[in-house]
Amino acid sequence: MTLAVCVRCGESKVGAFTPCARCGLDPAAHGTDKELQAKSLLLTDRYFPGGELEAMGRKLRAGELVAFDSAKLAELVEELKTQKLPIVSKAAPGCSIIGWALFGGAILFVVGVLWLWRARGA
Ligand SMILES: [Zn+2]
Repeated sequence: MTLAVCVRCGESKVGAFTPCARCGLDPAAHGTDKELQAKSLLLTDRYFPGGELEAMGRKLRAGELVAFDSAKLAELVEELKTQKLPIVSKAAPGCSIIGWALFGGAILFVVGVLWLWRARGA
């Protein structure tokens, strides 16, 4: 589990490439924007251990600009271009399919109960 902070709004989240629950920014969806992905990777507890990451998040939430280490950023952009780093949110579509399947199952159940209830009443 990687603790991360949204690069746009500073919301805390789990995983550098997971979509932000607050502003909806999804770094994994920006496949061509390597700088955004590199910043997302930088804003994790991997690079800012302990309270540092939380401090970065607070700054972003307050609307302050966060200074990124440009050398580190360039290095991460290169790594992303050469695909040395795995994009971790590959599991997300699978999860949502299961979510939708459960949702569909729940609707079928409700329809079935309503149908039985109507059949009994008639
Ligand atoms: Zn956000």
